[in-house]
Amino acid sequence: MSDLEQFLRGRIWLREHTPFPKEQVDAAIANGDITIKQGISTDKQCMRCLEQSPLKIIPFDCAKCEATCYYCRQCLQMRRISSCTELLVWRNPSSWQPALPSFDWQGKLTDKQKRASEEVAESIALRRPHLVYAVCGAGKTELLFPGIHEALQKGQRVCLAAPRTDVVLELSPRLRAAFPATVTHTLYGGSPEQEGLAQLVIATTHQLYRFEEAFDVVIVDEADAFPYTVDPALACAVEKARKPGAPIIYVSATPTKRLLKTIPNRSEIFSRYHGFPLPVPVYRPLWGYKKQLAAGKVPEKLKKWLQEKVNAGEPFLLFLPTIQLIDETVQLFKEVVPGIEAVHAEDPGRKEKVMQLREQKVPGLVCSTILERGITIANVQIAIVGADEALFDHAALIQISGRAGRSADFPDGEVVFFHNGISLEMDRARQLIRSYNKGGDRR
Ligand SMILES: [Zn+2]
Ligand SMILES: [Zn+2]
Repeated sequence: MSDLEQFLRGRIWLREHTPFPKEQVDAAIANGDITIKQGISTDKQCMRCLEQSPLKIIPFDCAKCEATCYYCRQCLQMRRISSCTELLVWRNPSSWQPALPSFDWQGKLTDKQKRASEEVAESIALRRPHLVYAVCGAGKTELLFPGIHEALQKGQRVCLAAPRTDVVLELSPRLRAAFPATVTHTLYGGSPEQEGLAQLVIATTHQLYRFEEAFDVVIVDEADAFPYTVDPALACAVEKARKPGAPIIYVSATPTKRLLKTIPNRSEIFSRYHGFPLPVPVYRPLWGYKKQLAAGKVPEKLKKWLQEKVNAGEPFLLFLPTIQLIDETVQLFKEVVPGIEAVHAEDPGRKEKVMQLREQKVPGLVCSTILERGITIANVQIAIVGADEALFDHAALIQISGRAGRSADFPDGEVVFFHNGISLEMDRARQLIRSYNKGGDRR
């Protein structure tokens, strides 16, 4: 198989940004291996992300073709697509026999994981959608391995998509270790170029814009997470990236009502892999905390909580509702706990800071909801300040609480909701956690 086919197969790619000599691309177009699609179709739909809202497909005076062109705002961050842009699609796939996968995973599934794992593999084999509804710390990734392995054995292409780069970076080494003989690509904004035709792709949902009818199986991890739920275009990207009729496996600890309603095939795991119950959040009022912080004072109750954790040598995460509040107060918190660091979405050093917390080089982090998912730190203690703020819906509160007690050595971390009044979402989160601990979902 040519390197050009390896690159383009299953993708939809900008002609002007294809890393191959022009003559090679031209020859493949001339002999019909590649067809060209107009970037924005004549009925004003983006051919990469399928956007067609007039709010996103915008006319402009194009210098290149000296006429009025349209460009797509929805997928702008992956280089601009306009009416006169050419997209390449590979049309003549040659026969392909990927290397037989070796499955190198020594861990053991619990009985519940094992049953879910078999159900997932069955849905993949029968090409039907499936939902894995499993609490934080249930061991969701591992139970996907056998189904992925079966698909790889059949020579199928598998994609594991997650909404955030952090989650992709966390999953990628685990999958590469489990399937060492399989050509695997890890794709996110700014990821390095990777060789060969990937049989296994681990990608942010955004990256799926660049694929078309590529995958025999698509697994969507954290299926309820921002930005997947608020951005229907991303759901559309998943649709476009799979082959017609290919199964989609949704994985979530806090599935939306819509997912629960629309996916009848479901595996549920409401206990953690280590068998200990989920930590139940404790409510503590922190009246007028905003005023106190604004006046340069850390409220006494919060100060006491922080000092307790430091004295016990326990790492902690302190969630605050806004980035602005984090920026304004980090200095105050440093006076109470020297060495404390702050982390939010725009912080390029956040990976290192989380690593430092894990290695106990910093005592704790003040953070935004960016750390609500995908991180595991042994013995971590959790506090949310302003748990009643609208930003903390029940799914966010459950995810944040799910950071505690993940390790079998420290299964019962503390989770404190500091609040200015108890919200319905706080109660909903706590009720759900309690019901999981009783073994079932009571929505
Ligand atoms: Zn687009
Ligand atoms: Zn143009």
